Amino acid sequence: MEGGMDFSVNINSNSILIFFTAIIGGGIGGASASHFLTELLNGNLDIDLYEAKTIGGRLATVKIDNNEVEAGGAIIHPKNMYMQKFVKLLGLEHKLPNDEKNGIWNGDKFVYKDSSYYIVSLTKLLYRYGFQLFHLKWYINNIIDDFVKIYELQDAGKSFANVSALLSAMNEEFPKLLQISIKDQLLQAGFTTRLIDEMVQAAIVVNYGQETDIQSFVGLVALAGVGADLWSVKGGNKGVPEHLIYRNKNVNVIPSRVTKIRNVADKNAKQYEVTYINKDSTDPMTSDYDIVIIAAPLTSDHKFPIEFTEFPDNLAFPGAYQTTYATFVKADLNPQYFGLQEPLDGILSCDPNKTIISSVGEVSSVNGLSKTDSGVWKVFSRKPLETSLVHKMFSNIIEKKEIAWKAYPRYTTDVPLNNFKLHDALYHVNAIEWIASAMEISAMGGRNVAILAYNDFLQKYNYSLSIDIHTDATKKLFTADEL
Ligand SMILES: Cc1cc2nc3c(=O)[nH]c(=O)nc-3n(C[C@H](O)[C@H](O)[C@H](O)COP(=O)(O)OP(=O)(O)OC[C@H]3O[C@@H](n4cnc5c(N)ncnc54)[C@H](O)[C@@H]3O)c2cc1C
Repeated sequence: MEGGMDFSVNINSNSILIFFTAIIGGGIGGASASHFLTELLNGNLDIDLYEAKTIGGRLATVKIDNNEVEAGGAIIHPKNMYMQKFVKLLGLEHKLPNDEKNGIWNGDKFVYKDSSYYIVSLTKLLYRYGFQLFHLKWYINNIIDDFVKIYELQDAGKSFANVSALLSAMNEEFPKLLQISIKDQLLQAGFTTRLIDEMVQAAIVVNYGQETDIQSFVGLVALAGVGADLWSVKGGNKGVPEHLIYRNKNVNVIPSRVTKIRNVADKNAKQYEVTYINKDSTDPMTSDYDIVIIAAPLTSDHKFPIEFTEFPDNLAFPGAYQTTYATFVKADLNPQYFGLQEPLDGILSCDPNKTIISSVGEVSSVNGLSKTDSGVWKVFSRKPLETSLVHKMFSNIIEKKEIAWKAYPRYTTDVPLNNFKLHDALYHVNAIEWIASAMEISAMGGRNVAILAYNDFLQKYNYSLSIDIHTDATKKLFTADEL
């Protein structure tokens, strides 16, 4: 999109306005931003969506011996309303959770193992961790009750300039959770070291590849999945961003990597010049935009860095992402390696330094029945798995594939101050990942920057659209017959 309309239009006349928008990143965050911004602007926009690799980003599948299984973001909480609504809107289907038997392994032994009978499992859990388990459930449910307030706030058109403001709107105490480790937070709340070092640690290791020294908000997000009826999207979770992007007639997908964003000082021109390089080329090209939304991580450890030039402030993105190796093996699990008589469906490590692996689980095909049926195992680890170890853990190996993900932020209790708004009309969806990383959270981040961009435009051009129209446009997303 070169040239295009001057934005100096009388907005209160009936002129048709076109807002030229760039979205950088075609994961669920970019898909969500494109969807919500299109609704808010009633389609009066052109979006160029740049994707350097594959639409879906960290939502992707991998083929192992003819089974297609989730390779990245895999499970969705039942209270994740955006994922629920997107699935309905797009005519996709839920894939229900497997009835799995899991165990927590410390490298020497299983500190806990599920039984085939629910009542036996519950008794074993209570014997090991006591009634604190119910307290933990209650504690997490209280957090979730506040967390879901974001849906009402966003429906009402509220937007937030930074991560801390967004958390405060859910609960004034939430920003404090970023400054204390999950271990200290739970100790202060009276939970035992055993529960924290085993169950809590195992949930954090499998979900975030890290340990209980991470900030407590993300720790609680990891725990929210324990015992919940987790689900996924039939055909693959990547179907959500794919369909959300490709059904939107205002979106033009550009298979290119963005290398530079320049702040254009000329008030009569579009504000940002984006430089990009097409997948099959080495020649940089440029396009100009009124709004730029970055829907990708910006820490320096990522593969497609973006340079920011001629901005008044230095834009810096401290921190790093955790590398998680996802190794997929079509084979038989060797229970003896883990000291088991018979295999479990899932093994969660509570001491990844000792076990080398973070988790092992049998995964079902994205198209298959909900029951585990593939014979494909997914192993998460923080280092690549040595072949000799794979041969100890598995027998009859048919195929093996490894994906190294820059998976989620490396969390500490010193969370960088992350702004969604980087400059006048330049926004960053993935600031939200420093609260926690999950597909629903990126969808929230996408909606937040869409509302921010929309509100900024109303303010900048003194646009006389009332909040009612704004809210109507927002609500129109999910009309009764779509739900
Ligand atoms: C192994 C693993 C397991 C996970 N498990 C879960 C889970 O069970 N449940 C859950 O909810 N979440 C899970 N997550 C996290 C979840 O997948 C992510 O939080 C979410 O998908 C992030 O979406 P996003 O759109 O914000 O970012 P991404 O999906 O990373 O999208 C960013 C996109 O931007 C593109 N891009 C980057 N730079 C440029 C550039 N310069 N120019 C153009 N394009 C660019 C990238 O190619 C990418 O496609 C998991 C993640 C991993 C890796």
